Amino acid sequence: MPELRKDPITGRWVIISTERHKRPSDFRTDRVTPIASDVCPFCPGREGLTPPEVLAFRDNGSPPNASGWDLRVVPNKFPALKVEGSLEREGEGMFDRMNGVGAHEVIIETPDHGKTLATSSETEIERVLWAFRERILDLKKDFRFRYILIFKNHGAAAGATLEHSHSQLIALPIVPDFVREEIEGARHHFVAKERCVFCDIIRQELATGRRVILEHAELVALSPYAPRFPFETWLLPRRHGSRFEEASKQEYEALARVLKAILVRMGRALEQPAYNLIIHSLPFSEETRDFYHWHVELIPKLSRMAGFEWGTGFYINPTAPEEAARVLREAHV
Ligand SMILES: [Zn+2]
Ligand SMILES: [Zn+2]
Ligand SMILES: [Zn+2]
Repeated sequence: MPELRKDPITGRWVIISTERHKRPSDFRTDRVTPIASDVCPFCPGREGLTPPEVLAFRDNGSPPNASGWDLRVVPNKFPALKVEGSLEREGEGMFDRMNGVGAHEVIIETPDHGKTLATSSETEIERVLWAFRERILDLKKDFRFRYILIFKNHGAAAGATLEHSHSQLIALPIVPDFVREEIEGARHHFVAKERCVFCDIIRQELATGRRVILEHAELVALSPYAPRFPFETWLLPRRHGSRFEEASKQEYEALARVLKAILVRMGRALEQPAYNLIIHSLPFSEETRDFYHWHVELIPKLSRMAGFEWGTGFYINPTAPEEAARVLREAHV
């Protein structure tokens, strides 16, 4: 059973999941073993190699766990957390722990082994977003969970261990630190100004335009003012909404379109980089919605974190966001 342990100094929770050691690819994060399409467990015809699906989109009436799907969601074969069991929060002397209860699922975005999100159509990307939403709505009913993390690692440098295009979902009994940090900051801003800090950012960035990459009626893509990483890009809905799963059809359409455009531009300007994509949304445990604004963060893997950064917790970004935004604006054909 994986375990969650809390650092008594910073309050940071970590997952101790020793079973994941069984993975042959462990500790070799630098390269992905290229798995040919004739042995890929995510390719159609090899459904038996994954755990049974929890969701699939099929419009030809094909049976579950057989080929004929457009998108499949399956439990991760090597989960970081396990869905069975109770949390059993307990103290161990001064320390806090709980069972590593959670759901870890894989969204296989396409039956086509050679396709990436950037080369998928807008309709196909939108389908992936609807799958995220459906899984969130389902897992939200489980009262043990407080947050659902949705992310995608594309390319070896970003940590993907299989090249067939997929994203992952982890339902957690805790709110992860980076979300907690954003929520606390956004709450502060709201208490002081009675305005959402993200709405304020959107207003100001659209007014100056220097860090705006792409403007859409529903959504804006920009380089944040103080990015941690070169070419870090945020995609924000223009209408205030705190949860991804409560977005409108128009917003999913817009997100699919803008996401594709940004991925194509990054591919062009940065020579097909590996990247991480993550959705930030209000935790289920939060009731007020005025102060937090859901968004997508996209981080191409261009630099490696150096010793200084590990040591100080300080990010050093060699690319100014104004420059990054200009490069991505001009990568438009
Ligand atoms: Zn495949
Ligand atoms: Zn807002
Ligand atoms: Zn964020």
